[in-house]
Amino acid sequence: MIRPRDDVALMEGYHSPQLDVTVRLNTNESPEAPPPQWVGELARAVETVDWHRYPDRAATELRTAIGGLHGVGPEQVFVANGSNEVLQTVLLTYGGPGRTAAVWEPTYALHSHIARLAGTAVAEGERAADFSVDLDEVRRVVSLTEPSVAFLCSPNNPTGVVDDEATVRATLEMVQAVDGLLVVDEAYGQFAPWSALGLVADDVPLVVSRTFSKTWSMAAARLGYLVGPAEVVAELEKVVLPYHLDALKQIAGCLALDHVGAMDERVARLVEERGRLVARLTDLPVEVWPSGANFVLFRPTAADGAEVWQQLVDRSVLVRNCSSWPRLEGCLRVTIGTPTEDDAFLDALEEILT
Ligand SMILES: *Cc1c(COP(=O)(O)O)cnc(C)c1O
Repeated sequence: MIRPRDDVALMEGYHSPQLDVTVRLNTNESPEAPPPQWVGELARAVETVDWHRYPDRAATELRTAIGGLHGVGPEQVFVANGSNEVLQTVLLTYGGPGRTAAVWEPTYALHSHIARLAGTAVAEGERAADFSVDLDEVRRVVSLTEPSVAFLCSPNNPTGVVDDEATVRATLEMVQAVDGLLVVDEAYGQFAPWSALGLVADDVPLVVSRTFSKTWSMAAARLGYLVGPAEVVAELEKVVLPYHLDALKQIAGCLALDHVGAMDERVARLVEERGRLVARLTDLPVEVWPSGANFVLFRPTAADGAEVWQQLVDRSVLVRNCSSWPRLEGCLRVTIGTPTEDDAFLDALEEILT
């Protein structure tokens, strides 16, 4: 039988197990469906698409609308099928054989996974004990490996930690000094107190990626984007497959941007609910990390993480089991859901731990 590439043969692939449970708090989706008006508008739009024609390859209307949201022009916006495809395109363009991508663990597993798939060497640095980015460690990894692409993730998945502006600026300076590109993955940016979007400029090697999957309640639509220098966006356009973004998705994104107010309200509700969930968690025998995202990382202090995860599943509550991940021994990650879902989780956890 034909064998895959040697490096691919050795790979694990990316897994995020789904189980048939009542309360699903494991993949950081929005607990609310998109606004019903948006669904109606999208249904009507299906009939307006020229289905026998290729879509607008440049997705100009969508890029203009997204740019409008962030105060930049369409030439500074790249759109793709989820921010994972954005990251893949960045790595196909700026990574590859003979080049290195730098990550600081623990962080989003797909940064290093996609880098390897694109034939890029991965340099793994360590975060500090509290999971913040340690600038001495950034300096060490960047000067040692001179990465073409370096990743920050703020808020960081799965820890929830937000990098402050001084950290992002200092990292950017170091990456710029070795002619690299800094990617700040802001999949959860709307939940955080500040954004690196304000640092984007045509003469700065920084891109900020975002997604419609989390805040925008559109995980099923697969739509993500980055904001960055026009020159970088133009290079990415050369690499991504032609017509990769289908016509209906382009419309779905444009229509969603008419509902910014509704989305902001959802974010505010989730941030408030996060506060409530953390307050109740703090009363239980668990260690909790402060989160700027729509999820919270915690570790039972007197019980085995994997066993607690199974006992939650037995009570029809699914959270992310990070307990066997490097540097996250015993940890679980819970997505902020509706108050009802969160109470089901908290009641089950309380029953298990006390
Ligand atoms: C969920 C997530 C993404 C997004 O993925 P999509 O492909 O846009 O659904 C990207 N980065 C991080 C850190 C995430 O957690």
